[in-house]
Amino acid sequence: MYQDIYDIIPADRVKFDEPMAQHTTFQIGGPADIMVIPTTVEEIINVLRYCHQRDLPLFVFGLGSNILVRDKGIRGMVMKLGEGLKTVCIQGQQVYAEAGVKMADLCRMVAREGLSGLEFAEGIPGSLGGAVVMNAGAYDGEMKDVIISVSAVDLSGVRYDFSAEQLQLGYRSSIFQAGGYIVLSAQLKLEPGDPEAIFATMAEYARRRRDKQPLDMPSAGSTFKRPKGLFVGPLLEQLGLKGFQIGGAQVSTKHAGFIVNTDNASAADVMNLIQYIQETARSKLGVELHPEVKLVGEE
Ligand SMILES: Cc1cc2nc3c(=O)[nH]c(=O)nc-3n(C[C@H](O)[C@H](O)[C@H](O)COP(=O)(O)OP(=O)(O)OC[C@H]3O[C@@H](n4cnc5c(N)ncnc54)[C@H](O)[C@@H]3O)c2cc1C
Repeated sequence: MYQDIYDIIPADRVKFDEPMAQHTTFQIGGPADIMVIPTTVEEIINVLRYCHQRDLPLFVFGLGSNILVRDKGIRGMVMKLGEGLKTVCIQGQQVYAEAGVKMADLCRMVAREGLSGLEFAEGIPGSLGGAVVMNAGAYDGEMKDVIISVSAVDLSGVRYDFSAEQLQLGYRSSIFQAGGYIVLSAQLKLEPGDPEAIFATMAEYARRRRDKQPLDMPSAGSTFKRPKGLFVGPLLEQLGLKGFQIGGAQVSTKHAGFIVNTDNASAADVMNLIQYIQETARSKLGVELHPEVKLVGEE
């Protein structure tokens, strides 16, 4: 049905019925009808045209570290950007980076150049594109602090440049979460710093993560956004939910803010656990918990 996709993307970067469990850090998710891995902006625009002409739904993946794909998978096209588009240019304090660059690679690259401001991103296991869309952050830093502008295309392939103000960056939110755009690249502004001190800060953040987070288990990081003035981990501990499990999905015994895939969890297991936690927090403490993790696909 989609064989003519090879006209625009080489066969080794096109997959049919691709199990999305292999592309999410949760290691959960049914198959995508078709998945492509574009490596240039031209390929992205050709894919957009292809989907538009065929009325094919399109979902964009970065590196799948904040996504729960439901068990029946994704109908239509998945475009995975976390494996292509990896150019980085550093000029003085300004950094231009494409959406597919891994945040972990980017923060090490700029640290080597003596640029400070991305230390917070050490240990955030996604792509630059995903970090922009999520306004990813940690340890008092977030993408909002460093973004000057972002280049994106809409679904008809028209290119836009957004200033930082236009992005409405808030706590784990940006205008891109409403869909309709593909983030191509970002321009960042960093500050001069001592590489040794920058790497020391990053090592300290990595140590804190190892101590507190279940990094040896598949997860999508923090399951819920932090309600104002509260921390989700201690809240779920207070509710007696640490270690609570539905099917193969468990509230981590190391950090209750994470749901981990402990034993071949299905997306339904995770969804049921999320719902159970939300109902418990609502009924016992009057607290509304909103998932940070993005849900996609058919139940
Ligand atoms: C162990 C662990 C620790 C984590 N710690 C943190 C943390 O400290 N702070 C934090 O903020 N997050 C954290 N996360 C969550 C996650 O890593 C971030 O949200 C990350 O920024 C997502 O990037 P990604 O490339 O994986 O995006 P994905 O998960 O692939 O996608 C996330 C969303 O962005 C969209 N998207 C991705 N790329 C693009 C693009 N180029 N154009 C348009 N839309 C796009 C997707 O459609 C989806 O809606 C953690 C996750 C794990 C597993």
